Amino acid sequence: MSDNQNKPQRPRRFIAGAVCPKCSEMDKVVMFSNDDGEEVRECVACGYSQTSTEQAVEDQQAQELATRVTPVDGRFGYDEGEQPLKILGLPDK
Ligand SMILES: [Zn+2]
Repeated sequence: MSDNQNKPQRPRRFIAGAVCPKCSEMDKVVMFSNDDGEEVRECVACGYSQTSTEQAVEDQQAQELATRVTPVDGRFGYDEGEQPLKILGLPDK
């Protein structure tokens, strides 16, 4: 571990069993606190990072979506092919 460039004071701990939402690697996600006191999850494999605030927003959106989806005869009307597009990082023009 020698890639701590400017924040060597931040202890990072791996989250056992956590899967990166971006690259799907397991056990590559570390958690640490940033200057705002937020917990940040960062993937050491692809560089993906997300603060607890962003995570909470996404969780809330996901819950809202889930509650709108009504299971039909035991089959959830919501599978990989039907997820709504999530647009992140819109170009700022
Ligand atoms: Zn990743």
